[in-house]
Amino acid sequence: MNNTEYKGVFVFAEQRDRKVQKVAIELIGKGKELAKELQTTVTAVLLGTDMEDEAKRLCYCGADNVIYVNDEMLDVYMTEPYVYALNQIVIDKKPEIMLFGATAIGRDLAPRVSARVHTGLTADCTGLTIEPDSDEPEKLNLMMTRPAFGGNIMATIACPNHRPQMATVRPGVMQAAKYSEVNPVNVEEYKINIPKECKNVEILEVTKIIQQRMNIEDAKILVSGGRGMHGSENYAVLEELADLLGGTISASRAAVDAGWVPKDRQVGQTGKTVRPNLYIACGISGAIQHLAGMEESEFIIAINKDETAPIFDVADVGIVGDIFKVVPLLIEELKKE
Ligand code: FAD
Repeated sequence: MNNTEYKGVFVFAEQRDRKVQKVAIELIGKGKELAKELQTTVTAVLLGTDMEDEAKRLCYCGADNVIYVNDEMLDVYMTEPYVYALNQIVIDKKPEIMLFGATAIGRDLAPRVSARVHTGLTADCTGLTIEPDSDEPEKLNLMMTRPAFGGNIMATIACPNHRPQMATVRPGVMQAAKYSEVNPVNVEEYKINIPKECKNVEILEVTKIIQQRMNIEDAKILVSGGRGMHGSENYAVLEELADLLGGTISASRAAVDAGWVPKDRQVGQTGKTVRPNLYIACGISGAIQHLAGMEESEFIIAINKDETAPIFDVADVGIVGDIFKVVPLLIEELKKE
């Protein structure tokens, strides 16, 4: 395989209900950094139907080009038609790098595409950089970093002998690209004849889970509770603090495993990665797997009765004390405002 034939950073622009997902904009943000180092462009690949405005939005969010496949068979995600379409695009356009969100869709799609084009895939990346190849320094490789062995080490993986270099990237880890209508619009309508046999599944009904609380990945303020909360009944006080601050609650895995808080609230390596403006950790020790999901938060306040708790190493403000005394005091003060 001649590596030099492969050019450009491609980003799979995941959509649901014909709306491009935030992770795609994060991938464009990272893709632009990588493309700058490789002196190339970022192309977003959008599969769906009636999504012309979203294709334009991808350009306003910094994609140099958009490849848009407008096909009824791609309206709702289904494995086979999506794999078929992406495989065609990869074979035809030969991207040097192809990025997907490490979402349910990305995790289903990316390995299948990488297997079909005989390249590798690094799943669940939290860091991407460009470095010269150790044997041929003029060749630049994508270095893909991901947690390994239960988050105890970070593994950096390269795919030097194959192209495209493919990765799925955790949502919430990369900075989203900035929106600007000054960016030029460059959308290529790309035609693919997807065989009818690809549609081997029929969707009979879609049941949506109604979110009663804000998604923790979108929240600007998170009040997070751990094992130190000592029971689900004690979360009411964190709910009150979160409401006063205009945020929502999240939790450590210990609190989720204990059944105090639903799984969709879990922050960390096997939960979600969050980057709020304010993260208040209450009764959370700061295990490495928890830190992996929240240490990029802009401002961290930790409340813990153990002054040696590792959470204080990443906190901007640390309060050594009992949550059940400190949090009510905070609530009282906020109510005075
Ligand atoms: P603990 O570590 O038990 O800490 C409780 C803290 O509460 C202590 O520091 C204690 O001093 C403090 N405390 C107790 N009472 C009070 C009080 N009244 N006032 C003030 N402070 C008090 N964890 C995650 O969070 N997210 C993940 O995604 C995740 N993924 C994992 C994946 C793998 C493969 C593995 C092996 C582990 C994972 N974990 C994850 C678990 C992680 O290792 C820790 O066990 C977990 O984060 C501990 O949760 P915690 O801090 O709430 O509990």
